[in-house]
Amino acid sequence: MAGDRLDQRFRLKAHQRQALTRLGLFTERDLLYYFPTRYERPAAEKLIGELHAGEVATVYGQAVKVKLGLARQKRIPLAEVIIEDATGRLKATWFYQAYLAKKIHEGDWVKLAGKLGERNGQLYLANPAFETAADHSLFGVQTTRPVNHKTPETLTPIYPETRGLSSVWFHYALKQLLETGAHQSLTDSLPATLVARYHLPALGPALLLIHQPRSEKEAAAARKRFAFEEIFFIQLERWLAKTTYEKNGGYQVAVDHETIKRFVGQLPFSLTNAQQRALDQILGDLERPAPMMRLLEGDVGSGKTAVAAAAAAAVVEAGFEVAFMAPTEILARQHFESLIKNFTDRKINLGLITGSECRKFPSKISPRETTHISRGQLLKWVSGGEIPVVVGTQTLIQKTVRFKNLALAIIDEQHRFGIKQRAALVKKGGRAPHLLSLTATPIPRTLALTVYGDLDLTLLDELPPGRRPIITKIVPEIERVVAYEKIRKELMAGRQAFVVCPRIDLPDPAKMLALNTKSAKQEAKRLQEKIFPEFTIGLVHSKLKPKDKEQVMADFVVGKIHLLVATSVVEVGVNVPNATVIVIEGAERFGLAQLHQLRGRVWRSDHQAHCFLFTDAVGGKTMERLRAVQTAKNGFELAELDLKLRGAGALTGGKQWGLSDLGMEALKNLKLVEAARAEAKNLLAKDPTLAHQPLLRERLTSTIEQPLHLE
Ligand code: ADP
Ligand code: MG
Repeated sequence: MAGDRLDQRFRLKAHQRQALTRLGLFTERDLLYYFPTRYERPAAEKLIGELHAGEVATVYGQAVKVKLGLARQKRIPLAEVIIEDATGRLKATWFYQAYLAKKIHEGDWVKLAGKLGERNGQLYLANPAFETAADHSLFGVQTTRPVNHKTPETLTPIYPETRGLSSVWFHYALKQLLETGAHQSLTDSLPATLVARYHLPALGPALLLIHQPRSEKEAAAARKRFAFEEIFFIQLERWLAKTTYEKNGGYQVAVDHETIKRFVGQLPFSLTNAQQRALDQILGDLERPAPMMRLLEGDVGSGKTAVAAAAAAAVVEAGFEVAFMAPTEILARQHFESLIKNFTDRKINLGLITGSECRKFPSKISPRETTHISRGQLLKWVSGGEIPVVVGTQTLIQKTVRFKNLALAIIDEQHRFGIKQRAALVKKGGRAPHLLSLTATPIPRTLALTVYGDLDLTLLDELPPGRRPIITKIVPEIERVVAYEKIRKELMAGRQAFVVCPRIDLPDPAKMLALNTKSAKQEAKRLQEKIFPEFTIGLVHSKLKPKDKEQVMADFVVGKIHLLVATSVVEVGVNVPNATVIVIEGAERFGLAQLHQLRGRVWRSDHQAHCFLFTDAVGGKTMERLRAVQTAKNGFELAELDLKLRGAGALTGGKQWGLSDLGMEALKNLKLVEAARAEAKNLLAKDPTLAHQPLLRERLTSTIEQPLHLE
């Protein structure tokens, strides 16, 4: 049965079991849904004597020596097989999959396919795919070279690999599984009407085609089916979540427009047209009885915070409470401080609650400052409604935090909070706060339609006046010094800078996949000692204690630290308008949206901002992606470019959205996304709780979004 556990079907080694667990693959069904990212045509068949280093080839030969052992130093299981044909001998080695080679015995005829490496003038194959002649012979074990050994017309599936499990392992495991007919026993949860309407292959055949296609066309048909399935179920889940949430009663806020005018009037700037439009829309939502579910999407620096603060003012004025959630402590602290400034003339209490501290404003002793209070005290005041505005990290939605009348929840950087967390905000009696999500992550339309399928969208498509476009440059290594001189000039003029590195520490050289990228710690030291001894350099990363992190950020904000070396902790929202330069090391290691977020850190004032990208990549695709960052005028343009440039099978970062690589691929197809969306909506319109669709219900409860992880 397809629900059977993999460890019953396969004899798994501990490291394999670990790898499967890491991938979340436990049952046969899970494995059947582990799809190849691409397919390779079988490599040309060659005689051993014709081989060259670097080429990909298929060779046939008889095993003359089989050796199992451990690789020197690393204690990794290793298998070696030497095969021979009439023209010579060739060595093949396998790391980790030594058990595979146990299937090969001296004297067997084997077919090996892979890339030829060369060491000390000797050619070898590392981790080649293999078949023994017996595998595809009708006559049992053969003792002579098979006559009909031409490769059959199938494509070789290439699976995403993980430490301990190679593509070849998946290939063989799936082959074995499909031979048992496991794919035929799965129930297709995609409604048959949809399968028919969109001419999709049914589940069983589709599984066979996606793992063992005979042509690209077959593979494409299967992939389309699973893409549709994935997008359809996400849509269904989001619509269900939306209708369920909206069924809760909301808080109808009597908006006092005079107060809002005054609130906006005391800001140090006037709102842009886009900000005004967004605010009007939000105030309109607040006045309605059903809870708002709105996403405010605006490029970095477009001023989402001011809009959110004005909405908060309306709610507080009406006598209700507001929770403001941020993804990190740094950001929570920052929002807390800027709200204090926004609310100075309002004489209200504001609270901060994070994993490491609780604060209240104003302090009894000095009314212009904040004061530490105990968690218990804060919780008491919040539940009594005495602190109507509370800022915090995820701690804010823990069960222990009770509000009197929480009418508005503002969620900064929405994609980091899941539907489950949202549900936690609904009061026992069933009254649900209005939700306002803020995001600066510009995403393509198809992705927004999918992952934000449950939210109404407001775009802040205008930057405050006076912002000059940021100058982004991919800097070749030989011009590093020039970039540093530019930074020196900025620092001497009183500006500040960021240097972002992909990792915290030096990579562990013992780790197989260690990447040779700059580490924040080492880079901070190097810059301080060798490049900028005259300036103060700070270091911040996610492993610092919250207190230390905060101290560093505080020092940077007031200018005590001139240059801040960081990991991507500074990615979201950190606001230091005096910083005008950002250096990003190992830029190829970041996603395009992430790079855009990062450069947004220095795009916060009317000073000219610069972003220098350093990369070790020479490859065409990577450079093309980085050049897109250089040329795209705004985040939305970049997002569409990013989607276009992703090759099928490239690591797409879809995980962040709860999408598989296949799902990400599907987003290139607007028609497919719109069809899946329309069908999901349709279905729920007819059957709002899916009472008549037990298969769909079951599927949804088992795929409901995993809680998303934070820094
Ligand atoms: P984001 O949308 O990225 O969250 P913020 O709300 O942090 O942007 O705003 C970025 C900066 O722009 C802040 O320093 C803020 O005070 C300023 N700002 C916001 N709105 C305006 C405006 N209408 N005119 C001028 N400056 C503004
Ligand atoms: Mg922000």
